[in-house]
Amino acid sequence: MAILRKRQIEMLAQMNGEELEKFFASLPATKEQLESLFEFVEDELYEEECDHTSRFAMQFLMKNNLPFPKIIAWLNANGGYCDCKIMENIEKEWRKAFPEPE
Ligand SMILES: [Zn+2]
Repeated sequence: MAILRKRQIEMLAQMNGEELEKFFASLPATKEQLESLFEFVEDELYEEECDHTSRFAMQFLMKNNLPFPKIIAWLNANGGYCDCKIMENIEKEWRKAFPEPE
């Protein structure tokens, strides 16, 4: 039987301080950059439906001169295969660990 390996993002809410530190050190962008990315993609998806590419994420990364191949690879590895999946698989897990401030 295959062992189901959890995605790193699914463990985020359970990580302790040291694990979180390692997690952020391994990320291709800062926490703030990723949160701005989630906000941008979320806003765009209000206006237009996902076409199941990462076009909005790409737009944001290009506009902000972020290392998009690395970030897209990280998003893909965590289930963010397109803009709506970034919201569904990554942003949702992220918010369990880092709730949005009121
Ligand atoms: Zn999609």
